[in-house]
Amino acid sequence: MKKNNAQRILMVTSECFPLIKTGGLADVAGALPLALKAAGAETRVFLPGFPDVMKATAGAKRICKLGTIAGGPAQLLSYVSKAGLDVIILDAPELFDISGNPYLDEKSQDRADNHLRYAIFARLAADIALGKLIDWQADVVHCHDWQAGLTPAYLKAETGTAPKTIFTIHNLAFQGLFPKDIFNGLGLPDCYFAADGVEYWDQVSYMKSGIMFSDWITTVSPTYASEIQTDEGGMGFGGLLASRGHTLSGIINGIDTDIWNPETDPVCVKGYSSKKLSDKAVTKKALQQKQGLRAAPKAPVFCVISRLTTQKGLDLLAGAVDHIVHLGGQLIVLGSGDKTIEDAFLAAAKRHPTEVSVTIGYDEQLAHMLQAGSDANFIPSRFEPCGLTQLCALRYGTLPIVGRVGGLSDTIIDTNAAAMQAGVATGVQFFPINQTTLAHAIDQTFDLYAAPRIWNKIIRNGMKQDVSWAAPAAEYLKLYKSV
Ligand code: ADP
Repeated sequence: MKKNNAQRILMVTSECFPLIKTGGLADVAGALPLALKAAGAETRVFLPGFPDVMKATAGAKRICKLGTIAGGPAQLLSYVSKAGLDVIILDAPELFDISGNPYLDEKSQDRADNHLRYAIFARLAADIALGKLIDWQADVVHCHDWQAGLTPAYLKAETGTAPKTIFTIHNLAFQGLFPKDIFNGLGLPDCYFAADGVEYWDQVSYMKSGIMFSDWITTVSPTYASEIQTDEGGMGFGGLLASRGHTLSGIINGIDTDIWNPETDPVCVKGYSSKKLSDKAVTKKALQQKQGLRAAPKAPVFCVISRLTTQKGLDLLAGAVDHIVHLGGQLIVLGSGDKTIEDAFLAAAKRHPTEVSVTIGYDEQLAHMLQAGSDANFIPSRFEPCGLTQLCALRYGTLPIVGRVGGLSDTIIDTNAAAMQAGVATGVQFFPINQTTLAHAIDQTFDLYAAPRIWNKIIRNGMKQDVSWAAPAAEYLKLYKSV
């Protein structure tokens, strides 16, 4: 029951930090609801009960028994985190008790039953939003990426009044594509398998469903919102998204500035702020030691915290490691992804054992330490919807070196002549994204590093940026009201 005039928002997402995370989507789904709550909205997050989620929410309360789903028992659980995140968990072990990556199998292939997993998830999200399952219903359903893409279709197919839907594209590269014969099992009207429905080149696309049937589409930066309306950036959906241009907007992500705070972050040997930048050096020293690098206070330490993929341009960076070392820099890489890129970085670490360190894997704590102890952070992406790593880098006084694409171009002010003269630059951008321009960006960064007063001014500018969720949450609230 609605107790007050607060807007009731249901977030539908397959990831939510700190319960489960493979990338930026989790950060957004974990932080935005809290920011919305602080701004007066009543937000609940609907999340699949993957093993990590079930473990982290032990003791969650049953709020609805669902009977048999996919041949096994299922229920909805309610959990409120210490931070105040209000989560509804779909506990359906037949679907979600899977180990490893939520989307990929051991061979890094899409899981064969993903269509079923995320169709049931999306259907139940619609039922919750409609008030059919629990004593709560939503005014607005905010669906994230293809995993939640069918929810707007299910709600559009309702005959009565249904809540409004917003569909956020975090990355258009992941489109939830399945063979057309799965359509009959989805329980959607037959006419939805059409060019103006979920059909995409004779397949079913859950991403297209979100695009076609939501009341409003957002993506995570204004520049990415423009890029995806073109043939080049639209990844097959350019024309369709352009046709929905009047109901499409870009809202930059924020980060959780309590979790990402160099003054209080436990990984910092000594907390630091823009007023006491010199204390960053203590953590740099500890980081070099921890990663087995030469103790070299004057060598610029570069880092990478990322999926190691061509999207992120890290094949290019792997080709530039010798150049960085030759100029006297050190590089620390944390991430996993394409085997060829992993191998290229591992080979570089073998060539330069005292200057290059590579950790293949996912490590939240090391990610924090890299932001705190490094001088600069590479995000040389070929495309980047928003990017969160550069926002954390700004906050930690770690200079971002970024491709001028998507959200990276919206959040970093390049050290071009005009910005330097105005004293507003916050990082180094390069474009187009190739080996030559990346090498040039690296040279430019070394030049800046050699001039400590200029360097400190740039990173102080970065630390002053508001990268919190306050402004984006206010924009989302405005949007929820307007739909
Ligand atoms: P993506 O396209 O992967 O979502 P984003 O920049 O939007 O990229 O978000 C990535 C998030 O995941 C950031 O919070 C970053 O710090 C984190 N991250 C990426 N790789 C790792 C890793 N190997 N270990 C720890 N954190 C990581």
